[in-house]
Amino acid sequence: MRIFCASLATETNTFSPLRTDFSDFKQSFYAAPGAHPETPTLCSGVFPALRRASQDLDFDLIEGTATWAEPGGLLNAGTWVYLRDEILEQVREALPLDAVVLGLHGAMIADGCTDCEGALLEAVRGIVGPETIIGVTFDPHSHLSQKRVDNADIITVFKEFPHTDFAETGEACVALVLRALRGEIKPVVSAYDVRMIDILPTSQAPMRGFVDRMKALEEDGTVLSVSAIHGFMAGDSPDLGAKIVVVTDNDRSKGTEIATRLGEELFSFRGQTKPQFLTASVALAKAARADKGPVVVADVWDNPGGGVAGDSTLMLREAMAQDLQSVAFGTIWDPMAVRLCHAAGEGARLNLRFGGKTSSTAGDPVDAIVTVLKNQRDAVQSFGTSIVPLGDCSVIRLGGIDVVLNSNRSQAFSPDLFTNLGIDITAKKVLVVKSTNHFYGAFSKIAAEVLYASVDGPYPNDPKTTPYTRLTRPLWPIVSNPFEMALA
Ligand SMILES: [Zn+2]
Repeated sequence: MRIFCASLATETNTFSPLRTDFSDFKQSFYAAPGAHPETPTLCSGVFPALRRASQDLDFDLIEGTATWAEPGGLLNAGTWVYLRDEILEQVREALPLDAVVLGLHGAMIADGCTDCEGALLEAVRGIVGPETIIGVTFDPHSHLSQKRVDNADIITVFKEFPHTDFAETGEACVALVLRALRGEIKPVVSAYDVRMIDILPTSQAPMRGFVDRMKALEEDGTVLSVSAIHGFMAGDSPDLGAKIVVVTDNDRSKGTEIATRLGEELFSFRGQTKPQFLTASVALAKAARADKGPVVVADVWDNPGGGVAGDSTLMLREAMAQDLQSVAFGTIWDPMAVRLCHAAGEGARLNLRFGGKTSSTAGDPVDAIVTVLKNQRDAVQSFGTSIVPLGDCSVIRLGGIDVVLNSNRSQAFSPDLFTNLGIDITAKKVLVVKSTNHFYGAFSKIAAEVLYASVDGPYPNDPKTTPYTRLTRPLWPIVSNPFEMALA
């Protein structure tokens, strides 16, 4: 038996001032065939899962390219065609194949292609033919098109947000592919369109119970797999919105029935799933007043993980205006300022301009006399078992605030973002991080309290006012009852 795997992933914020090209993939993660590390990356969990399985079971594993770019703006047309064709050529060379397993994200939009993953799956299907099993993993912040459903036999999606189960999702996909190859199951995919777009963290009710119920349906054997696509509100896609995906053992009507039931339940949660979002001034003042630290304050919308630059200065300016003390602030993306700090050296004081450079809506650059506390080449943070590159970094101090400047855009995943750079977080009163929800997994373990601050900036955080151009059907909250609209 012969199984091919590859991974091609990014999340495209079509409203971002950024653009994404091959250098972004190279900077974030690019592994040529055979060069994938032992540990999974967010969207390449199928690689280590297949390697492990190939040690016990008799099949040839043919590894293709695995690459990921930090979420950003519209993908360059030539880069998309280059990466797509690289993988398709690898599939052709690997023929004949019994299975293809792809680790995708599912929210990639290129200049000239609104459904990159659908196009890739359709092209792979065209090469391998109808008998080959195609398994795919997606991030829930993706756009599920009919083309994807039609061309995949198995779809698994991270159930947790924060995505703490990305490795398990890859393993689940591989396990189902292997069972299908052994003839034990005949997987079919059913999907339900929930017609809503919302933020759906799974750490607390009602999503916590929803995820637990999905898991129970898998554990008791009712379905082979069940997932919720949350959708990605910053992507102008015709398939925008939440969907339920159910994989059954050759029972499409049961799959459709379960997907519909879960989809209707998910729709009933609309508007009730987000934690309380405060203004920046209220959140920071509340954090400063706390008896016990560190209080973690999340700048939820200036999240590089959602495709914006992550160089907003609005929250920092508020902290400076309140003259906050004992604050660590991570991160502000500014490769040019990092370069200047490295040139100045640790301990140097200099007049530095930093942040606020990529858009008109993320605040003006800050001009301040700063002390360089730390310079680090190729700094990293962790996200579960995955290592996330931050590029060259500097820690600067202005007043009572230590700011981490990075040169590879990344959201804040883990407190080692700070501790790897010599910042003692236990001695800080307030930690400000740029992340919507992924920070919560690791930071909640060290936080005295977690506060969420909503600061308008370049991220399109209100679907009611976002100028989507490609919607093909009504969605909540753009309309209050999308199902009534659909009938009318
Ligand atoms: Zn996601």
